Amino acid sequence: MTDDEIKNKLLSKKQELEELLAASADDAAPVELDQTQQGRLSRIDALQQQAMAAETRRRRQRALRLLEAALQRLDEGEYGYCVTCGEAIEAERLALDPGTPFCVGHAR
Ligand SMILES: [Zn+2]
Repeated sequence: MTDDEIKNKLLSKKQELEELLAASADDAAPVELDQTQQGRLSRIDALQQQAMAAETRRRRQRALRLLEAALQRLDEGEYGYCVTCGEAIEAERLALDPGTPFCVGHAR
C-alpha cells in the first residue's frame, strides 16, 4: 500500500470511531437513580448497560488515540515500524489493525 492509501484507511477508521463515539455519548452518561420510577432489577440493568457502554467508549477512545499516533508516524515516515524494537510490523497485522504501533512480539 502507498502512504496515501494507508492514510485514507487510517482516516476512514478514525472517522468511523469518532461517529460511534459521538452517537454513544448519551449511553455512557451516569444513570439517574430514580427509585420511584424504576424497580431494583431495572436499575441494575441500567447500571450494567451504562458500565458496558462506558467500557466500549474507553476502548474506542484508546483505538482513536492509536490511529492519531499512527497518522503522525506516517507523516514522520515511521509508520509500520514497531515503536518498541523498530522492526517492520507484519503486513497481515497492519491489515487487521492499521493503528497498531507494535510488532507481534511486542503486542500487549
Ligand atoms: Zn517490536
